[in-house]
Amino acid sequence: MKKENGESMMDRIREAIRDVPDFPKPGIIFKDITPLLASPEAFGDVIDILEQRYTGKGISKIVAIESRGFLFGAALADRLKIGMVPVRKPGKLPYRKIRHEYKLEYGSDAVEIHEDAVLRGEKVVIIDDLLATGGTAAAAISLVQELGGVVMEAAFVIELAFLNGRAKLSPVQVFSVLEYD
Ligand code: AMP
Repeated sequence: MKKENGESMMDRIREAIRDVPDFPKPGIIFKDITPLLASPEAFGDVIDILEQRYTGKGISKIVAIESRGFLFGAALADRLKIGMVPVRKPGKLPYRKIRHEYKLEYGSDAVEIHEDAVLRGEKVVIIDDLLATGGTAAAAISLVQELGGVVMEAAFVIELAFLNGRAKLSPVQVFSVLEYD
């Protein structure tokens, strides 16, 4: 995809993501999306791509994962003129909710969703900023499915393909704007 100035849209998005080595702990290269958010062109490109992909597909909710998923999910839901549902870390949601726990390398974590947030049979797209091992997104998929929702796709701005998180989400289809090998 080319923009008017000849610069490729994908290059512009890639250039707006900053690698921060050893954050939050040694050995992790953190993909910092704050320069992307600060660039109206690059941020707009990402939302354009997602909007084009999901327009006219009968999707009625964007389910966004705390916390950076909210930033993309809210913008996308507004473009598509559909609702946005937050999936949050334990203890954050105020109303009646269900929880799904998942294993981390050491210990476990959990995510929650309001029990009335997705209706039975409703088609949703799940969104987060980044797909790493897939544990978080897999838990979000389980929550939506437990409520009877249909997950059409899981979408990410960034996919760390070498971690093969995609396999953990199968058979749910995965879309990522940018892949890192
Ligand atoms: P995972 O459950 O392993 O797929 O991890 C995904 C979650 O952790 C996402 O919400 C990401 O925001 C965050 N995350 C994991 N690895 C990174 C990374 N290298 N850079 C930025 N965020 C990350």
